[in-house]
Amino acid sequence: MTLISVDEARQRILDSLPPVNTLDLPLRTCMGRVLAGDIRAGVELPSFDNSGMDGFAVRAADTLGASPASPRTLRVVADIPAGTMPQQPIGPGEAARIMTGAPIPPGADAVVPVEDTDFNYRLAGEPAPQNVNVFQPVKPGRNIRLRGSDVALGQVVMQSGQRLRAQDLGLLSMLGFASVPVYRQPRMALFSGGDELILVDEPLVPGKVRDANAYTLTALAQSAGAEVIFLGIAADARESVQNVLERAVEQQVDLIVSSAGVSVGAFDFVKEVVESRGHLNFWKVNMRPGKPLTFGAYRDIPFFGLPGNPVSAFIGFEVFVRPAIERLSGCRCGARPIQKVLLDEAIESDGRESYLRAVVSDVNGQLRARLTGHQGSGNLLSLVQANALLIIPSGVKSLPPGASVDAWLL
Ligand code: AMP
Ligand code: MG
Repeated sequence: MTLISVDEARQRILDSLPPVNTLDLPLRTCMGRVLAGDIRAGVELPSFDNSGMDGFAVRAADTLGASPASPRTLRVVADIPAGTMPQQPIGPGEAARIMTGAPIPPGADAVVPVEDTDFNYRLAGEPAPQNVNVFQPVKPGRNIRLRGSDVALGQVVMQSGQRLRAQDLGLLSMLGFASVPVYRQPRMALFSGGDELILVDEPLVPGKVRDANAYTLTALAQSAGAEVIFLGIAADARESVQNVLERAVEQQVDLIVSSAGVSVGAFDFVKEVVESRGHLNFWKVNMRPGKPLTFGAYRDIPFFGLPGNPVSAFIGFEVFVRPAIERLSGCRCGARPIQKVLLDEAIESDGRESYLRAVVSDVNGQLRARLTGHQGSGNLLSLVQANALLIIPSGVKSLPPGASVDAWLL
């Protein structure tokens, strides 16, 4: 087994994964979904010149020199609520009361905010006055939102591969997309392996351990955008593992993830069963925590065998499975953001790329990190207490206090 880097292993995995297929979905169900095509505006936004303020549409020239001591008095010839198209043009010495979002009438070239007039705008339902006194001059174009000033006709406003957020749904709606093309959500089958495992609501008897990975990995996969089908606990027996894998096939999943059972322990049958109807690579990845990383396929469905220790399973997921789910989702999410933090204490490493549990806090504007106690891969509490993983690069054996390191915020 040759030693490969984390990046190399991840790249090999991603290269083997095609995105799932696509479908059109109603806009209201698209939060968090990945766009499967570029979005081009079929209308301009705004689609007509409109007022940015409640006030009076005027000819700017008529307000020259206006002040509270010497107001300009204009005749109010129209009242324009939002939602109607004004017909009457505004002539010299004239104005129209106008609401935010209402179309600018012909002839007007600026809007005087109601606050700069003598009109008592605090009374709802007040009819428009016959005359209005303007206390401030406005420049031409002021408080007018021009047609097309936000979005031009034909402009590409969103790109294939982006994950839709709340504001994206709003813009799609303004552009008239009642449905949008998105990638199907990848379906991930998950099972835990081990005769020692019991379910959360079973009594804890000596020798048994409650299954943590089922919960942690389900939650992580959902947060990555997958639909998770939990297949339960496979016993350390050939038939049991086979049975679970066949159920994953029946469920037509896009990805199978197991935790535990892929070591070289005497009862680890996952390798044998996967290889009977697929293939499995055991890569020795230069990382800590790290067992051999197992990645392959069972009946052509991509398969990950994560380590059983809960912290190792979590980190293995974040390093390898999350990017895999993003790839299957069609997401061009890019690499996970890295935060630079300063060490509050010296750190020893062993030369492998190491993921260490830490608390990062803001101390006088600097992000400072300290480790959360025992870093053993079975110590889930130290991951619970952490809010970040520090990434110590390969080749580094020790770092002094004050050193700058990369971190993933959790
Ligand atoms: P294995 O990978 O089967 O050698 O397991 C390594 C360690 O992780 C053992 O101590 C297991 O009991 C523990 N372990 C395996 N799976 C789980 C799980 N789903 N939840 C909690 N602990 C686990
Ligand atoms: Mg085991």
